This record gives sequence, C-alpha cells and structure tokens, in this order.
Amino acid sequence: MIEELRETVCRLHTELVRYDLVAWTAGNISGRVPGADLFVIKPSGVSYDDLTPESIVVCDLDGDLVEGSLAPSSDTAAHAYVYRHMPEVNGVAHTHSTYASAWAARGEPIPCVLTAMADEFGGEIPVGPFALIGGDDIGRGIVETLAGHRSRAVLMRNHGVFTIGESPKAAVKTAVMCEDVARTVHVARQLGAPAPIAPGDVDSLYDRYQNVYGQRSHR
Ligand SMILES: [Zn+2]
Repeated sequence: MIEELRETVCRLHTELVRYDLVAWTAGNISGRVPGADLFVIKPSGVSYDDLTPESIVVCDLDGDLVEGSLAPSSDTAAHAYVYRHMPEVNGVAHTHSTYASAWAARGEPIPCVLTAMADEFGGEIPVGPFALIGGDDIGRGIVETLAGHRSRAVLMRNHGVFTIGESPKAAVKTAVMCEDVARTVHVARQLGAPAPIAPGDVDSLYDRYQNVYGQRSHR
C-alpha cells in the first residue's frame, strides 16, 4: 500500500509542473498512509524530473523520517501537523503559485466573485498567519485557519498556498483551482471592483457542486 501511495504522490508532482504552479523545487505533496500513523512526502531539494516513487520518503506524524534515503521536504513539519490535527485529511499540497502567492503577499483573502469559487471553495479563500518554517507554526496556522471553513485552501501570509483534501489528488486539484481563481480575480480587479455573489447563492452553488456535480463513482 505504501508503494502504491509513493507512486501516486510521485506522479502528482508532475501536475504541479504541468499547471505551472512551481518554480525549481518549491512545491510539495504528501499523502497519508491508510490505517497507519505515517505519510509519504517529497524529498527535500530534488527536482521534479528526478523524482521517482522510490525517492518519495515515509515519515511518522511527528515528521520524523521512517523510510527512505533522502531528507524529507523542508515543509514536512507543516504536513505532519495537519495530519495530526485533521484526521479527515489524507492529502496535503503546497505551492508558491504566482497569483495565489501575490494575494498572500498582500495578506488579502480572495473574495468569492466567481461561481467556480463558490463551487470549489464555498466562499472566499482565507489568509493564514505569517509563520516561519521549521516548527509547528505553519501547520498550526493552516489548521486554525481552515477549521470551520469550507475552503480547503489557505493563503499563508507572505508565503504561498497550502491545500488539504480527502486524497493527495484532491489536494492537488484544489491547488490548481486556487491558482486559477486567484488569476481570474486578479485580472478582474484590473478593470474595476468584481461583483460579489449573494451568500445564499454561494451556498446553493457549493451544495450542488459538492453533492450533485460530476460522476459520483469517479471522484
Ligand atoms: Zn513554501
């Protein structure tokens, strides 16, 4: 099962490149190992072209390396904190994607002014606190910001995007959608004030998308 997850998480990193969400090695994805207090994550400083399933490392929920010959991502403590405190989360993605990070640089939430945002995020995409890398501060900021929020994406102030999901793939999809709406709302801003969507309509859109849209068996 760990081998399969390593393969999945390795392959998902190619999506970060495909959707232009990362420069150099500045982005990472992890996935919780089902039924174990473990997760797999990108090794630190390895280019996306050189990633192989074998190079994906296994860590415990304290963020300590359990299996693998490379050092885990420098963001491992943040991923570990999320897995410890959000049992429903099975995947975490992190990027410095340009438009979303520009909102983070201003410390400004992305307002819900597109139906696609209401569908996917159920409201604005919130901003989390400024936090230094290494300890629990980033993880705590993610968990505290997303607790009780529909959005599965958070803009960490002056930093970038963290997304969570029921699977690593879901977390990556949210990272892609976050950058997409960050770009569109940014462009809209250039020509004037984007029109808000009434809260009742946001609720209806979110509910329909989460419960009715798509092929139920192919999520
Ligand atoms: Zn970062």
